[in-house]
Amino acid sequence: CGIVGYVGPQSALEVVMAGLKRLEYRGYDSAGVAVLADGGLATAKKAGKLLNLEKELDGRPLPAGATGIGHTRWATHGGPTDTNAHPHIDNAGRVAVVHNGIIENFALLRAELAERGHDLASETDTEVVAHLLAEEFSSCADLAEAMRLVCRRLEGAFTLVAVHADEPDVVVGARRNSPLVVGVGDGEAFLASDVAAFIAHTRSAIELGQDQVVELRRDGVTVTGFDGSPADVRSYHVDWDASA
Ligand code: GLU
Repeated sequence: CGIVGYVGPQSALEVVMAGLKRLEYRGYDSAGVAVLADGGLATAKKAGKLLNLEKELDGRPLPAGATGIGHTRWATHGGPTDTNAHPHIDNAGRVAVVHNGIIENFALLRAELAERGHDLASETDTEVVAHLLAEEFSSCADLAEAMRLVCRRLEGAFTLVAVHADEPDVVVGARRNSPLVVGVGDGEAFLASDVAAFIAHTRSAIELGQDQVVELRRDGVTVTGFDGSPADVRSYHVDWDASA
């Protein structure tokens, strides 16, 4: 299972797909991507190997975009189907989220969302996060803030990465008891569960700490705690051999 995020001048889809390939060694049963382009959000996801997703993208290409996220899933809640594959989106189709880990209190959150009229499509614990982010974003119009507010309501272990069509130049990530590393490039930024996904592009990395949220933009990254307090950022140079 793995996660990749990108914002910058390159084709987000290409960077994300290449990154997912570098994470294949971690094992997975499904894969998916989301790209922000032309004011909207486009996704593709398939059960099975990345090859299945590539075939899907060949048959139904996504618009070219500068901001994207990708995921390889190891199913814990809901079988390995196309519908349960990530990304998961809200009912308006404006926010997409990918997740590694487990949201322990998802059943309660799901029931609350259903009561508020949300229509959930999958059997995953993840999908609640897309809907909760959409709700919070509708009042704060700030994806990083929406992520902080949502994370404070989640229990369990998670790496979460999200994009919103109303903030087309931003990727937001969060982590608790699950890995997430940021790559800082020149006019571009990366996110991944493992530096292997982006060392072909940059060797300047930031390891996210426990209960932190990162906002990625082309010109830099901002890290805070789930409570919004500025975080101590520990950046380092990745010096191991990329071909290893
Ligand atoms: N619990 C989530 C799911 O089953 C994420 C699994 C993962 O870590 O890939 O969809």
